[in-house]
Amino acid sequence: MLSFFDDRVFREASHLNGFSGNVIERWSEARDEASFGSALASADAAIYLFLEDRALLRAEGGLLAPRFTLKAAEALGLERDTLILLGVTGEGPRFAGLVRAEIGRPETIKAIDLRSLAIQAVLETHDLAALAQARSYLHWHAGSRFCGRCGGPLHMLRGGIGRACAACGSEVFPRVDPVVIMLAVDGERCLLGRQPRFAPGMYSALAGFVEPGETLEEAVRREVKEEAGITVGRVAYHSSQAWPFPSSLMIGCHAEALSTKVERDAAELEDCRWFERGEVRLMLQGTHPQGLQVPPQMAIAHNLIAAFADWQSA
Ligand SMILES: [Zn+2]
Repeated sequence: MLSFFDDRVFREASHLNGFSGNVIERWSEARDEASFGSALASADAAIYLFLEDRALLRAEGGLLAPRFTLKAAEALGLERDTLILLGVTGEGPRFAGLVRAEIGRPETIKAIDLRSLAIQAVLETHDLAALAQARSYLHWHAGSRFCGRCGGPLHMLRGGIGRACAACGSEVFPRVDPVVIMLAVDGERCLLGRQPRFAPGMYSALAGFVEPGETLEEAVRREVKEEAGITVGRVAYHSSQAWPFPSSLMIGCHAEALSTKVERDAAELEDCRWFERGEVRLMLQGTHPQGLQVPPQMAIAHNLIAAFADWQSA
């Protein structure tokens, strides 16, 4: 007998996107205030360290190692009150913390931003995903010092799962900001745009924050209309990507164009036009005659564009 899921087209494309594949069991419900100390005392506890928004890595024989023991972390300037318990893995508990900026560190310790680490694909998938989780949590804790209700100071809750106010009892938890990123498609062509901050020759899918009170599909239609003047009909979900800059969830969709005249929002985009499938294939392969390109493989935009470029009607 078919199960509910057997009866559906089930393709989890999200695993193509960088920062996917997190194996940390967050233990959100099971943990209490004592969990932090007992996990930290574990012999196989390991810490992901950050210098502001960059991950610290130890260069070892041509490889980069992203996890540190508590002792090593303290030698590198760990600020103990930033330490949070991310959760547990089959190989032990995993923590994250910030190091003080002013401390000198050996040459073998590198501070690298997560975008570069994802593009270079130098870490194991699960470590890169854990670093994304760590960066979002550390950023949230650093910016959540005071209670939004009464103004009192917030303290860490259950090893960093949230923060709480001693004065009024409010509890707050990290939020994730949904962003729609969509590739509008008109038959054999797709719509790509260029923001002024992009690298020369780079074109990508359009994107924008979901606003309060709208569905994902409505956000896709609004953004494509606002940025390119194109009317969108059907919207098909493709995949999602945790985007820790600082704490977004990119939700990738294909969008059926119902109109074709591009009216670009000049404040957002310096160019926006239709690209034929053949031209997009050259951009993906890195063989475009004018050197035009699309975002790297770790980016959800790349995989949205590749799904369109690779598609063939039966
Ligand atoms: Zn309060």
